[in-house]
Amino acid sequence: MTTNQLTDTYLHQGLRSKLAKELAEKGITDKNVLNAIEKLPRHFFLNTAFTKFAYEDKAFPIAAGQTISQPYTVAFQTQLLELKKGEKVLEIGTGSGYQTCILMEMGAKVFTIERQKELFDKTKNLLSQMGYAPKMFYDDGYKGLEVFAPFDKILVTAGAPFIPEPLKEQLKVGGRLVIPVGQGEVQEMILIEKRGASEYIQTQHGMFRFVPLLTEKNKSHY
Ligand code: SAH
Repeated sequence: MTTNQLTDTYLHQGLRSKLAKELAEKGITDKNVLNAIEKLPRHFFLNTAFTKFAYEDKAFPIAAGQTISQPYTVAFQTQLLELKKGEKVLEIGTGSGYQTCILMEMGAKVFTIERQKELFDKTKNLLSQMGYAPKMFYDDGYKGLEVFAPFDKILVTAGAPFIPEPLKEQLKVGGRLVIPVGQGEVQEMILIEKRGASEYIQTQHGMFRFVPLLTEKNKSHY
């Protein structure tokens, strides 16, 4: 499969406005999230085979057996973060880089980790072509990113069997961690708010479907 040419047209822009409206109807209220969805060409992140579906509210396959999350899921997770300009965000699961760019469009300083080498390389190349320069790491996100901690916000974009302790530790007091948690096909969206050095409040925000958060780095997809 070939990568898309980076051409954005009025047609694409129109479809994006429609998608943003659809997400608002589905309950997304954060205007900054909706603006970022409206601005960022999602078709740049998909293989050409899926270009014409890029603005449907659906997940699609990317490389290495992974998926680009459904726009509603991206918007929902981002809204839960309550992101403010200039905040330092750690994303686990770079994947296509779409979520990374949404965070950057909203003014975040993004650190993002991907464990699949193939995806890491591909996405690094795409984002630099698009002019985005997040700090990208090829590593296992279960460990977080100790050297750059603490973070205002942490976002996990793969289904975790449990909440990794380092991620809680690497949050600032007042920070928020958004993570889908569950062992099976579906996961519960969990928000952790850090209220003190070891004081956390945990709330649940509905069921979602993610690819699994796997351990260690992987040079190929198997
Ligand atoms: N945010 C992405 C979603 C990609 S799907 C997007 O917008 O496209 C989840 C991603 O998490 C996959 O790319 C998968 O390879 C990655 N992943 C899974 N386990 C991981 C881990 N332990 N550390 C880092 N990334 C991981």
